[in-house]
Amino acid sequence: MNSKAIINLILIFFLIISLFSCTNKASDNKTHADIIIKNALILTQDSTKRIIENGVIVILNSKIVEIGNNDLTEKYSAKEIIDATDKLVMPGLINTHTHAAMTILRGVADDLPLLEWLYKHIFPLEAKYVNAENVTLGTQLAVLEMIHSGTTTFNDMYFYEDEVAQVCKSIGMRAVLTESLIDFPVPNSKTPQDGLKYSENLINKYLNDSLITIGIAAHSPYTCSPWLLQESKKLADKYNVPYNIHLSETKWEVDTIQKTYNLTPVGYLDSLKVLSENVIGAHCVHLSDSDIQTIANKGVGVAHNPQCNLKISSGVAPIPELLKAHAQVGLGTDGVVSNNDLNMFEEMNTAAIIHKYTHNEPTVMNATEVVDIATIGGAKALGLDKKIGSLEVGKLADLIIIDLNKPHLIPLYNIYSQIVYSVDGSDVETVIINGKIIMKENKIITIDEKEVLSKFKEFAENLKKNLNEQKTDYNQ
Ligand SMILES: [Zn+2]
Repeated sequence: MNSKAIINLILIFFLIISLFSCTNKASDNKTHADIIIKNALILTQDSTKRIIENGVIVILNSKIVEIGNNDLTEKYSAKEIIDATDKLVMPGLINTHTHAAMTILRGVADDLPLLEWLYKHIFPLEAKYVNAENVTLGTQLAVLEMIHSGTTTFNDMYFYEDEVAQVCKSIGMRAVLTESLIDFPVPNSKTPQDGLKYSENLINKYLNDSLITIGIAAHSPYTCSPWLLQESKKLADKYNVPYNIHLSETKWEVDTIQKTYNLTPVGYLDSLKVLSENVIGAHCVHLSDSDIQTIANKGVGVAHNPQCNLKISSGVAPIPELLKAHAQVGLGTDGVVSNNDLNMFEEMNTAAIIHKYTHNEPTVMNATEVVDIATIGGAKALGLDKKIGSLEVGKLADLIIIDLNKPHLIPLYNIYSQIVYSVDGSDVETVIINGKIIMKENKIITIDEKEVLSKFKEFAENLKKNLNEQKTDYNQ
């Protein structure tokens, strides 16, 4: 046999092999996907409140492409197949109000009167320690904590939000990020004008980003001039982005605004034409009946932060009344200095219980309503409900997997009750955001968690030393 014949034989051999493998693919006839989750109990949170037993979710790129029963495994193949037997799959939780990087001050001052706590402890420490490096570190820790406890989107209001965005992108976390605008100089803006410019630059930098939505934050009606409230709202409207503001948080705020403008904080913002659908009011604890109506009519989102409101004794927000008026209500933790964690499961539990007490009525805020505000309700409040908040075909794949095979989660009669009254954040086992696995079986895979924790401890040791030295100076 000459060399030409040998080459021909080899070519024929490879042709047969490739034909054979093509035939295999054809007989397999499965559509390729990235991730398949099978054998799951699926809480969709769609408009029909569909719950699927032995369900399958198929993910391709960033989206859910199919959701249904186990038959779907015949139709799809994927490299990553997650067997969710005895596990719950539900939409990732949406924290509608926090200040993530405040983790650097967790537990530094607690159980103090509000004004002493703020002016003697939190504000001076922020002035000294809030910088780009510490915000990066604080946000890393916060994002780790949020992922471990099932949050897949958070709405942040703080400083150095460009650094916050970079942390979120590197870990794979979804976030709405808003730089706090305030009348006085803050760590990275000397004037409100600088702050507005910073926010606009940030909006343009992250335009169409797959994880980051940049919005605007006016700190509150009492720390922002009417000019700043209106200019910042104009900027939010120009780019059609979310607008965060602390609103009617304390009785003191209501009295102060009432004294100055003869209006409630909600009435005052309405008189400035600040209230509309892109606004998210954090807290909304002290509302009149007409405030509730204004919030509902204007489509303003409300971020309910029950644990923070209780801890600093600001009161209990009229959430059942807001829901009755069809306001868009989401759930949030606020920053850890007033909570002191970012665990949305705890927050759900508190949200379910406090209104029963204040209304002297155990049917108020049932478990289904509470899960709603922590998922699709939060998405609506942030204006992101077309993308996230429920598990539906075409939506982004932001979901969490919870291990139900634990003593405190057995028996299972009602999944909503289980989520609100029994599940803890630490039961979250796997987290997928934007179609990517961020935590698998309790291990975060996009960042070295140990390294973040050890850096953080080092930072805290230094802070503690400085505080002790200050105390000694003061005593001398
Ligand atoms: Zn806040």
